[in-house]
Amino acid sequence: MARCYNFCAGPATLPLSVLETARDDMVDYQGSGMSIMESSHRGKQYAAVHEEAVANIRELMGVSDDYAVLFLQGGASTQFAYIPINLLGEGQTADYTNSGAWAAKAIKEAKLLGNVNIAADCGSEIPTRVPSVDELQLTDGAAYLHVTSNETISGAQWKIFPSCEAPLVADMSSDILSRPVDVNQFGLIYAGLQKNLGPSGAALVIVRKDLTDRVQESTPTMFKYATHIKAGSMFNTPPCFSIYILNLVTRWLKSEGLQNIFDQNVAKAAKLYAAIDGSGFYRGTAVQECRSDMNVTWRIANEDLEPEFIKQADAQGLKGLKGHRSVGGIRASIYNAFPPEGIDALVAFMKNFEASNG
Ligand SMILES: *Cc1c(COP(=O)(O)O)cnc(C)c1O
Repeated sequence: MARCYNFCAGPATLPLSVLETARDDMVDYQGSGMSIMESSHRGKQYAAVHEEAVANIRELMGVSDDYAVLFLQGGASTQFAYIPINLLGEGQTADYTNSGAWAAKAIKEAKLLGNVNIAADCGSEIPTRVPSVDELQLTDGAAYLHVTSNETISGAQWKIFPSCEAPLVADMSSDILSRPVDVNQFGLIYAGLQKNLGPSGAALVIVRKDLTDRVQESTPTMFKYATHIKAGSMFNTPPCFSIYILNLVTRWLKSEGLQNIFDQNVAKAAKLYAAIDGSGFYRGTAVQECRSDMNVTWRIANEDLEPEFIKQADAQGLKGLKGHRSVGGIRASIYNAFPPEGIDALVAFMKNFEASNG
């Protein structure tokens, strides 16, 4: 079997043990004579998967009963609209921080639906960063404050979240469950599954229940959080297979331990940043204090060499290192499931590449 080192930003590498279990379960799920993909979402078998997935998320993140844990379709991008639809009342203002491409997309949708104040804007700065807590210009009585926990494209990450009176809303698509966070600090957390949680096909939403009664009565049923809370994310057919894989990933996370995963993530990223900083040949893209532990971004001082770097790395089984098409450069996405040996292989490749081209 030839598994490559997959540095893709999303969909992204999954734990091998999860893929193997899914393979073994594929055509005959636990003696049912059918795949979990073929079984009714109202049946006992799927219900057990769904309930365990919710329970595991609650346990791993320490989610209290004040919050609902939902799986909603349309990915994280649909949440960009859901949030203002449900949480931004008429005449109210929502505060948003602009830290880059993903924050900008969230802002664009919110502006279509209500009043938005940009509390801080460093979205187009290079080197890239997220705002510092003390530069935020917050609105009195804001409906909420939105932050993008980790900018997947630029590789900048909030290390300490702002504390504010308004509920804090965080897009954690690319760093959810990569580190311990205190859920009670947030009004709402959301994440597309396909970076750190499983395959694509849904978003995980953790929302404080009391916030969901702000929604207007006239809002279509499917677009209300309240609908999905009431139905336990089973108002309509959920993406059963995505949630099944997510459940296996949460089992794996529980066996590894979140603190252990976090320590490993920090160590993996530090090794790669050390390799970047250790030579004038490479240059990191993000401001030091904001460097992401999930998406490591850098340039080669001579940018003309980047296509060759990516091509040669690919030929050696180091896949998906091309930076996002909007910014270029090199990006290594090293989520929870990315193995430490892959970092060593990349660092060795970087040294060799520099020796032949430096
Ligand atoms: C990938 C990503 C998204 C978009 O996720 P989709 O599920 O494709 O809509 C949103 N925000 C961040 C930070 C991301 O990394």
